[in-house]
Amino acid sequence: MSQPILEVKHLCKYFSTPRGTLHAVEDLSFTLQQGRTLGVVGESGCGKSTLIRTIIGLSPATDGSVIFDGKDITHLKKKEQKELRKDMQIIFQDPFSSLDPRMSVRAQITEPLKLANLHIKKPELEERLKSLMDTVGIAERFADAYPHEMDGGRRQRVGIARALAMDPRFIVCDEPVSALDVSIQAQILNLLQDLQEQMGLTYIFITHNLSVVNHISDENLHMYLGCMVETCESEELFERPLHPYTKALLSAIPQPSIRVKQEPILLEGELTSPINPAPGCRFAPRCPYATELCTKELPEPAEIMPGHIVACHNVQEINKL
Ligand code: SF4
Repeated sequence: MSQPILEVKHLCKYFSTPRGTLHAVEDLSFTLQQGRTLGVVGESGCGKSTLIRTIIGLSPATDGSVIFDGKDITHLKKKEQKELRKDMQIIFQDPFSSLDPRMSVRAQITEPLKLANLHIKKPELEERLKSLMDTVGIAERFADAYPHEMDGGRRQRVGIARALAMDPRFIVCDEPVSALDVSIQAQILNLLQDLQEQMGLTYIFITHNLSVVNHISDENLHMYLGCMVETCESEELFERPLHPYTKALLSAIPQPSIRVKQEPILLEGELTSPINPAPGCRFAPRCPYATELCTKELPEPAEIMPGHIVACHNVQEINKL
């Protein structure tokens, strides 16, 4: 296999709070190949957005490293960060708040090109604008429109065009459809898939919606309170979840198209605090399979089957492997 475009190694991100140290991301590792989509899934507050902010350098890592295209980008200087932005872009959750209400579509989409000081002449800039609008499916007549004059789907298309302006290779999609009407969601997901195919883009797709992640991701990474609990190819994960938390999440999907058919597994017990967390498995207070070891040691991720990594002390027994 070729060198991955992204390698995250033992990444940690902690925050000091008046009540102690918040462990937002704990010793998280994964790799991602060019042209693939990794879905990062978890409940609100599980650390997925912090993970992404740390990967793309918006928030400094506490420990561990991030390698992009063979280069360590964990602690870049401001100038190097700016260079990296050409290759790494982000599409935000809420297009209304991520776009500047005082800027027209033309200004929003061409701004990254102007900020990069590429000295592009006006006619060329106009050509680039037209091409980007065409690529994301916005009619030319919207070039002088403002965000409040467009619907949510068009606004998100502007956000996507803006992210594409610098010809990136890697895009983080931070819940890009969760603020949109259901009817528009599929259009935006299909657009992202088409763009990936045409441009060989690599995505990290953050979501709490399992149906969305099943639709778009090649591989999945599930997080629980800052820790990676399970990661593997999407198809494998939806066919055969091995971690008790993933099993519970998948059992709650209402859509009949998902192949895991069982009664919803109801999780009882309290969420552990991520502030000065106890030494054991973060899921232990809610896990029906917890043993004494689970309350003492954080389980290390281990490859249980080829490409299928799970962090659980009792995964063999639970799944009768
Ligand atoms: Fe449950 Fe223990 Fe596995 Fe954690 S390590 S998921 S508590 S069985």
